[in-house]
Amino acid sequence: MTDQNPDLRGGAEPLIFEKSSPGMGAVSLPAADVPAVDEKAVIPGDLLATTPPPLPELGELELVRHYTRLSHRLFSVDTHFYPLGSCTMKYNPRINEWACALPGFTRLHPLTPDRLAQGALQLLYELRCDLAEIAGLDEVSLQPCAGAHGEMTGLMTIVAYHRSRGQDRKNVLIPDSAHGTNPASCTMAGRQVVPVKSNARGRIDLNDLRGKVDSETAALMVTNPSTLGLFEDEIVKIAEILHEAGALLYLDGANMNAIMGLSRPGDFGVDVMHYNTHKTFSTPHGGGGPGAGPIAVRRQLAPFLPAPQVVRRSDGTFALDYNRPQSIGRVRTFVGQIGVLVRAYAYIRALGNSGIKRAAETAVLSANYLAVKLREKYELPHALPCMHEFVLSASRQKEKGVSAMDVAKRLIDYDIHPPTTYFPMIVPEALMIEPTETESLRDLDRFVAVMLKIAEEAETNPDALHDAPTRGFTRRADAVAGDRKPNLRWECK
Ligand SMILES: *Cc1c(COP(=O)(O)O)cnc(C)c1O
Repeated sequence: MTDQNPDLRGGAEPLIFEKSSPGMGAVSLPAADVPAVDEKAVIPGDLLATTPPPLPELGELELVRHYTRLSHRLFSVDTHFYPLGSCTMKYNPRINEWACALPGFTRLHPLTPDRLAQGALQLLYELRCDLAEIAGLDEVSLQPCAGAHGEMTGLMTIVAYHRSRGQDRKNVLIPDSAHGTNPASCTMAGRQVVPVKSNARGRIDLNDLRGKVDSETAALMVTNPSTLGLFEDEIVKIAEILHEAGALLYLDGANMNAIMGLSRPGDFGVDVMHYNTHKTFSTPHGGGGPGAGPIAVRRQLAPFLPAPQVVRRSDGTFALDYNRPQSIGRVRTFVGQIGVLVRAYAYIRALGNSGIKRAAETAVLSANYLAVKLREKYELPHALPCMHEFVLSASRQKEKGVSAMDVAKRLIDYDIHPPTTYFPMIVPEALMIEPTETESLRDLDRFVAVMLKIAEEAETNPDALHDAPTRGFTRRADAVAGDRKPNLRWECK
């Protein structure tokens, strides 16, 4: 864009490089108070650039407007209904942001000696105890920094436990409805995946499970409630089958939002689990972070947890304990993702026992409300009640040539974030919907009205849905080309 030819349309946003005008700038650094270094004396000449990099040059206001405008194009929990199944996109209460921004946390150097970091250590210790209590298990490690990281750490703990008993059990059983991170973590932990089938009710097929458990089974990774939004009602029997064979039960706790405060995994036979605190206990997440995936274990597994462990000494002070000879070692720098852990603590303490229960109950109620209203027009493959989420199939719409992807993209035209699509893979044309407890009845009703309208459009004008979204900032992206030939670099001309 030049001064001679200003763009009056105000439409397509130019790239930041295209807005650049030579000589503009938004930085004013203080004068250096240390002697300048001659870079030629420290860096070999052939490694030094000969021309400065072609960075965009913009004034501060232009820069602020550029990024603020881009941010307005985003779908976020703060701006839109976001029923992205499995991701628990609930509202993130602002009290959490206040708490984690307190200078006592943000200014704390990670190498501060324990005696000068008592407040932070106490918070971490109390969070450790709260998470153990909600899990119904004995000890928690706060180190893992994502759900997937917790899965890997949990499996490494399980492997260390079996090895301490002279066993190198190679196999991990994983149901066919599992999240993709489960087999990935299993491979990262050096174990082999053995898939287990689901039955017609969407639960683990016990006969298939019995046939696959043997002396090589390290554990079963179960997600309960499952990714179909269903409670594994035979979970106690499942735990027995594993324990009888000397194997352990691992819980993918990503769906704790449905059962927190109501049902404790330790009580239904789980030995090791991870939390996705960024989902269940609310931290803005998505696009890769930040997160925290603490793991909770039964007493027999505690010696193998990552070190250091935050502990309370007998004199009442708090410390990082490195003296854990059987530990699998560190899985994360310092104490973990402290900003997210402070938010989880603030969330749990703000809600308290009864608030946490109510959040779970409301999440389940909201999902069932939507499922009942939508099953008239969309296929609901598994019987209700569901837990905090449910999976519809757009199979009826597919007969008219309208796919789950078309329905999802059309929702963008109505200012609603699409649900998770094509997952779990055992449901064709899957639309996985998780409203969470924080949406008002009015917003749930609006979602129902929009989904019914789209079902009607699929009947009357199916071809129009292939073009959706038509009202957003961008049209439908070519997902295949984006995957096979991604262009991640802006070429400077
Ligand atoms: C989100 C999720 C995970 C992975 O968690 P991350 O924190 O994204 O690594 C694993 N399992 C299930 C069922 C999930 O929903």
